[in-house]
Amino acid sequence: MQANRICPPLLALAGALFLLSPAETRSFNVYGDMLDLTQRDFRILNGFTGAFANTNQVPDPDFPGSLGAELAIRKGIAEWGSRPHGSGLTDPSQDVLGSGGSNFDAFFAGRSLVAGGPNRNIISVIAGSGGALAFTEIPIADGWRIRFYNNVRDWNDRVAPPLLGSSPMDIQGIMTHEFGHALGLDHSAVPGATMDQVTADLGIDLRSIEQDDQDGVQFLYGLTDPLKPRIDTYRFVANGTLLRIEGEHFDATHNEIWFTPDAPTDAMADPIVRAPGIASTAGGTVIEVAVPQGVGPGDIAVKMPGSGPSDLSNVYPFHPTREPWTPPIAYGAPGVSSMGTDVVLGWSSLPSATAGSIDLFVSGGGTLGFRTGLIAVGTGRATAATPFGTLHIGGNLRRAALLTTLDGSGIVSLDLAATPLIGTRLFVQAWVPDGGPSGGVLSNALEIEITE
Ligand SMILES: [Zn+2]
Repeated sequence: MQANRICPPLLALAGALFLLSPAETRSFNVYGDMLDLTQRDFRILNGFTGAFANTNQVPDPDFPGSLGAELAIRKGIAEWGSRPHGSGLTDPSQDVLGSGGSNFDAFFAGRSLVAGGPNRNIISVIAGSGGALAFTEIPIADGWRIRFYNNVRDWNDRVAPPLLGSSPMDIQGIMTHEFGHALGLDHSAVPGATMDQVTADLGIDLRSIEQDDQDGVQFLYGLTDPLKPRIDTYRFVANGTLLRIEGEHFDATHNEIWFTPDAPTDAMADPIVRAPGIASTAGGTVIEVAVPQGVGPGDIAVKMPGSGPSDLSNVYPFHPTREPWTPPIAYGAPGVSSMGTDVVLGWSSLPSATAGSIDLFVSGGGTLGFRTGLIAVGTGRATAATPFGTLHIGGNLRRAALLTTLDGSGIVSLDLAATPLIGTRLFVQAWVPDGGPSGGVLSNALEIEITE
């Protein structure tokens, strides 16, 4: 496949290019400046007009409030974060979103009404081509701007390119690359690094940052400080009037809580909705705060009184009317096939009420290639011995789907239509045919919470 150059080798706008000494073993390159705590926000003006740029209309609980290209952009930026963004597990194209491991996190400050000037931290599209796919305007110390060339080719907001001969470029992967520039990285000399200058995979290969990219962001912002404040989760208390943030290392008296606004902002506004001067309790592990007016779905973060790189917490997904989603939980030992393999049930798409289904897969099963397996759904956990191994699901049981791949293992779409309520939990287990005496094997089970 033809390699595509992502962005110009060095922008005319670039400040002094700072190359590390050749004696260093690192291969990433930096511009020589970085983003302080006043520049950790970003906004999006989604002007993509291509046929495949806004096709993903399944809400993602780790990125509340965003669909289409906006969702892809947020995921690309979240990959640079200090730790997994929310569950970190909602992108099937990679193990975890949030792989930076440094004192750097970027905060989604909502939509912008305009593309803004070169220092307003706004991502938008631009007409024309410029011989590249996208570019980042630097120097960054006082802010940046990222433009995607809207018309240079088709853009894709999903994991797989659409069929029918089209080969649109991946918004999320190119965003991950461009945001590397925004946080201070120049192109890397390491083939395969996200900050390498080319992609051979329509940009999907760039979604996941690599060791060289991690070395780069950690060089700029430092390895994650053990005392950097950390949001683990949140919930609503006091009859829903207070947001309770749970984590570690919050300031005793003067935390500033950041929220995403519920409406687009203009270029000059401070887009972040702030709740200043909030104390913590329980040794800096709990913050309770009334959610301010004008807050929408997006992110929350906790800023400490200082201004060092680690004085901002990780950025955590937030929905003003919904508590965090729990990813599917595997439980119960998988059965063992007559070939000695574990029969494992897993998941590969969101259990979304909007989508109406979840993709499950079974691996390690099926020595009788011409037969199909089954997916069963229950309403609770159980432990019951059967000739096929342990049944881990109970309550109201139903046979929900057939495994239809020829080898009896593979991906199956489980219809959620019977229980589309957000927050409902399904208990799911697979049975696959097997050449052993029992004729079949049961997998482990999954507890699945249906999300938006
Ligand atoms: Zn580039």
